[in-house]
Amino acid sequence: MKPLKELIRPNIWELKPYSSARDEYQGKEASVFLDANENPYNIPNNRYPDPLQRDLKHLIAKEKKVQPEQIFLGNGSDEAIDLPFRAFCRPGVDNVVAIEPTYGMYQVCANVNDVAYRKVLLDHHFQFSASELLAATDENTKLIFLCSPNNPTGNCLNRHEIETVLREFGGLVIVDEAYIDFATEPSLLGRLEEFPNLVVLQTFSKAWGCAGIRLGMAFASPEIVQVLNKIKYPYNVNRLTQQEALQMMQRNYEVQRWVASLLEERTRLMAAFAKLPCCRKIYPTDANFFLARVSDAPRIYEYLVDKGIIVRNRSHVALCQNCLRITVGTRPENDTLLNALQGIQ
Ligand SMILES: *Cc1c(COP(=O)(O)O)cnc(C)c1O
Repeated sequence: MKPLKELIRPNIWELKPYSSARDEYQGKEASVFLDANENPYNIPNNRYPDPLQRDLKHLIAKEKKVQPEQIFLGNGSDEAIDLPFRAFCRPGVDNVVAIEPTYGMYQVCANVNDVAYRKVLLDHHFQFSASELLAATDENTKLIFLCSPNNPTGNCLNRHEIETVLREFGGLVIVDEAYIDFATEPSLLGRLEEFPNLVVLQTFSKAWGCAGIRLGMAFASPEIVQVLNKIKYPYNVNRLTQQEALQMMQRNYEVQRWVASLLEERTRLMAAFAKLPCCRKIYPTDANFFLARVSDAPRIYEYLVDKGIIVRNRSHVALCQNCLRITVGTRPENDTLLNALQGIQ
């Protein structure tokens, strides 16, 4: 990996971050807080939240077997995807490389930040080759985005190829593991020490059932986490979100149960879907959704919308012609989908 100082935008390296009242005073023993122009009434929402979410990071560190200093928390993964662009990519000069097809937010953030987005097409098994990906990089490539399990394809990317990219690329490799709790492959979290350029993204939005509270996690070296902390909004994770996430962490056995039942339901739904007259092919998946090629995706999509059933039409996405992406729901929800498609060609 190149030295961080070479990767980071010069203005961000020089930046003196905003120092909030809650940053400057860090002890817990005080009882009179007259430092932040808060209202003394309406406890507890009157107080600004902890800008570094220490209590929550303490629990996440234990659960994920990392150090609290290796954790960045953001307003959804969206924030953890956007901040590396703002920290590392000079607008109009630098570029990033990503596989295609993949999660749409990487390209949106690239466009918003005026950073060139280079796509490398996956093969017909939705896999990539490290050498092809690395060949798309140049001296101005700051970030590589990999998503495993990948969205919308559902499969895990080849671990050996990911490791080659991590070893050979001088910039940051961001591996989005939003669906890792549903996968048979282990997370890359255990490899953070070995790969100083690795950033692993995870989220409370999928297995943890908390898409509504907006909480995303980035795991990386303390040096990289410090860069992200330096440029984030001071109170990026609000108090209600921190509180709800703390409570979720204490009932993590429930998450295990949800995952187990969704995996069981996924097997049943995919087997039944494969037998539908409109189904041409089902792709293997390591996520809580699967990709299915059907007779005519736009027509089937509209037919389902008409019945009040919404799936994702991925027809226009590279390599996904006539494909629908189907999220695994509850058993009755999945049965509603299957029944609606019974007898449809
Ligand atoms: C759903 C999803 C996320 C989650 O995004 P949040 O902003 O945390 O809700 C991240 N990455 C991928 C690939 C996803 O599919």
